[in-house]
Amino acid sequence: MMSSSPLSTVIRDVKGYASDLAESWLDLMKKKQYNEAVQLCIDFLENYGSAFKSRTLEIDEEGYNKLLILLVFFKGLHEYVQLCQITNDRNWYKDHTTVENVWIKLCDCRERLQFSSQYCQGEVIDRVFSDLDGLEEFFCNVFGEGSYLSPGIVADVSLCSICNQDCRACSHVAGRLYNGKICFYQPINPQLNHVALVKTPKDLRCRIWSWHIKDNEDESIRIDSACILTSFRVDDFLQDSETKFHENLY
Ligand SMILES: [Zn+2]
Repeated sequence: MMSSSPLSTVIRDVKGYASDLAESWLDLMKKKQYNEAVQLCIDFLENYGSAFKSRTLEIDEEGYNKLLILLVFFKGLHEYVQLCQITNDRNWYKDHTTVENVWIKLCDCRERLQFSSQYCQGEVIDRVFSDLDGLEEFFCNVFGEGSYLSPGIVADVSLCSICNQDCRACSHVAGRLYNGKICFYQPINPQLNHVALVKTPKDLRCRIWSWHIKDNEDESIRIDSACILTSFRVDDFLQDSETKFHENLY
């Protein structure tokens, strides 16, 4: 059982360890043992997430980078099992809230696994991607391709999350890993400049659902609920406080 595996195993042969675990996960999924598959992911995230966050491991920068990718990978697998559990009910797509939640989770899961695929390859990730494609196609067939909101944000300056300097002046590159941290540019004093209605958005989560489009009495229409910006990051589940980290797992 993975929970008894010493942390040193993952550090010495991180790739081998993760692929063994992913194989066990796939076996559980094939048998539709979703609860056990969820537990496998949660065990990994709890054990290694806490160790990763405490930064007390005797590993180098590269070791932290690999561990981060694996944590994101198992978070993605966890979300994938949740998608299977929800869509196992054949009527899931008839409930609007469920549809919106599944869509967000589909986006989260795909982005995390895309990020992990730079390091984790093989049957597991191929199968999950193929299933996610199928689910996205289902959305397209049932709800259309969708319209999305895309915000234009202006900011005084953007700071690098690694060195906290003006991102134009430092050598860090957004999206790259540095000692287990993903570099991103944080806009300072951001202001909404405009919101565009688009077909191919940067963030698919900002989808307008038909049931939120309402008619006004004067024959104009309004959208009563839509998201224009999300705070999603592939490693967001590791950034929160300890309590929230655990809440997020369930
Ligand atoms: Zn920097």
